[in-house]
Amino acid sequence: MEVKTLKDIDLSKNPVIGQMGLYNHEQILFCNDNATGLKAIIAIHNTVLGPSLGGTRMWNYNNEMEALNDVLRLSRGMTYKSSVAGLNLGGGKAVIIGDPKKIKNEALLRRFGKFVDSLGGKYITAEDVAMTSHDMEVIHMETDYVSGLPENMGGSGNPSPVTAYGVYVSMKASAKETWGSDSLSGKKVLVQGIGHVGEVLVEHLSKEGAKVYIHDISEERLKAVAAKYKAEVVSPDTMFDLDIDVYAPCALGATVNDDTLAKLKCKIICGAANNQLAEEQKHGELVGKKGILYAPDYVVNAGGIINVYYELEGYNRERALAHAEKIYATTSNIFQLAKKEGIPTYMAANRLGEQRIEAIAKINAIY
Ligand code: NAD
Repeated sequence: MEVKTLKDIDLSKNPVIGQMGLYNHEQILFCNDNATGLKAIIAIHNTVLGPSLGGTRMWNYNNEMEALNDVLRLSRGMTYKSSVAGLNLGGGKAVIIGDPKKIKNEALLRRFGKFVDSLGGKYITAEDVAMTSHDMEVIHMETDYVSGLPENMGGSGNPSPVTAYGVYVSMKASAKETWGSDSLSGKKVLVQGIGHVGEVLVEHLSKEGAKVYIHDISEERLKAVAAKYKAEVVSPDTMFDLDIDVYAPCALGATVNDDTLAKLKCKIICGAANNQLAEEQKHGELVGKKGILYAPDYVVNAGGIINVYYELEGYNRERALAHAEKIYATTSNIFQLAKKEGIPTYMAANRLGEQRIEAIAKINAIY
């Protein structure tokens, strides 16, 4: 996938289509509706593998360029995620600009649904930040191109168990690479964030006999999960000083940064959170130099998109889980490629994603 450098593009003169050229985006739809106050951007990055799929994020951006940057970056990320996961999906994403508490209502969401529908299936939406499954139901009133619907509407429901299973098998593949055995029994694992995904991950780890440490900002969740799985609660002040084997970020992004890398003593980083590396290139290289094996986040947490993919095919949780199990092999392949090419693991994941798109683009060229 051709990537120009910012130097090649004069963004002051070409801030929109110029920026699309940076990562070779196919199409952007700018949506405006004065009556409902809807202002949204739908970005379609690449549809070589199939229709673009990615969530809709609602956020009170400071300005339009911030929103545009976000949707371009996120939609490109979806292309890589689906490609590496072996799905026949391209990458897309949408952002709705504004404070959800102030402007989100039925009319605005339905108007947005009409815009999604106007793309005729080239973009399929789903939940993301500040959107709920109920919002998806409302959008669905205007378009069929919605995924992640509740089970009682024929949807795939909560994706978190499938995501957590993918994280678990990816962690096992990382253990195999590091210690020669994929058993996590007796390994010390810190799970940061014990929400929908984190809790199910703790369950898998406890069943396998790992020693699990947990941290969350919710005292209530900490109490409940600690009691249920005999996990040890750790304080945010000391958790990165712990002598652990695996760090599993399952809350926020950017937790692999200068500060945490100066302290972390683990051998593996493998968790569900998106965008774990504060700066992809810098910290993606630094982890390796510190002797830590980094399982690339979007490979590890692909269970979520795998789950909605099977919704498009007529949902079946067994098939979704069976596909999520392949994340084990994919994680191993990325480690092998990184070793063979002498590159960081995040870069190996990107390369794998690009290789699949290039290969499939060639077969698509033949009628
Ligand atoms: P969630 O909201 O259910 O859980 C997040 C948990 O993190 C909550 O318990 C919250 O209290 C805690 N948290 C928030 N800020 C924290 C902090 N500073 N320190 C410690 N804990 C904090 O979310 P989730 O669905 O479990 O997703 C977890 C992560 O995985 C997110 O980054 C999400 O984007 C990513 N992800 C989730 C899925 C999925 O299927 N749910 C799929 C792909 C990626």
